Amino acid sequence: MTYSAPDRYIGRFAPSPSGPLHFGSLIAALGSYLQAKANQGLWLVRIEDLDPPREVPGAADDILRTLDAFGLHWDGEVVYQSRCHDRYQAVLDDWAGRGLSYHCHCTRRMIAEAGGFYSGHCRDLRLPAAGAAVRLRLERPIHDFEDRLQGRVAVAGPLAEEDFIIRRRDGLYAYNLAVVLDDAEAGVTEVVRGADLLEPTVRQIALYRLLGAPEPGWLHLPLATRGGHKLSKQNHAPALDRRRPEMPLWQALAFLGQLPPPDLAGAGVAELLAWARQHWRLERVPKGPHIELKHACSSHLERPALS
Ligand code: GLU
Ligand code: ZN
Repeated sequence: MTYSAPDRYIGRFAPSPSGPLHFGSLIAALGSYLQAKANQGLWLVRIEDLDPPREVPGAADDILRTLDAFGLHWDGEVVYQSRCHDRYQAVLDDWAGRGLSYHCHCTRRMIAEAGGFYSGHCRDLRLPAAGAAVRLRLERPIHDFEDRLQGRVAVAGPLAEEDFIIRRRDGLYAYNLAVVLDDAEAGVTEVVRGADLLEPTVRQIALYRLLGAPEPGWLHLPLATRGGHKLSKQNHAPALDRRRPEMPLWQALAFLGQLPPPDLAGAGVAELLAWARQHWRLERVPKGPHIELKHACSSHLERPALS
């Protein structure tokens, strides 16, 4: 497989269908959408349904309907990772044949007892495939990268250096593997997503090198936190209401430092997004990896009252 760099901007939003979209995921969707559209690019949507036990039935459709209701219309067909297993396996077979990966039989418990990081125990043991995880033989770890918003990001120690898992022992493909294979396949030129994924980026860059695929740019948006915790399904961030998209869209724009003018206070989503596509300024997006909703933005997040 050879990968070539496309001659236009290609961005994407890649939600996992583990629940409905909430305000935190809206920020990633909106930021990636605006960055793509302001660059006259394509904005793709991929459903990362790699992990069936963590999926909520109907969540993928629910997410797509919500994007539509918020005026975030994607280009081309939605990609479902669950339909791409053959393509992932072909790459794994190729790497295995070249000695770039190996089977590992270590249990979570063994790794926890050894200090929480994988030491390379099975690297040269040539263990059988049955019941094994597949790990990458990481010869050239990546320790830092340039993020368009966060600047130079350094990742030290085992997080960067460990032979990480590319296929789990239960047979599921690892997020880092699938995300890179799919972004490379789609020709994504810039990955725009939440800052919770800053650290895995070094592993993903290592995979781009191995594939010989052009590495995209990286842009990690600040995470909205409440009480110090990232808004997430786990801490019960409320689902976005499809019937009333204007207020959360306004708030997400303000969170990203793009404050619509007061005369748009009564505007619908199409009009708000048209304004935002035209006025998107990356330099106004706050840089910190976390922004506390309560302090940072509550006042300017409020849309002016309609008179
Ligand atoms: N599917 C991942 C998530 O929902 C995002 C993957 C990515 O944007 O790289 O957290
Ligand atoms: Zn092992």
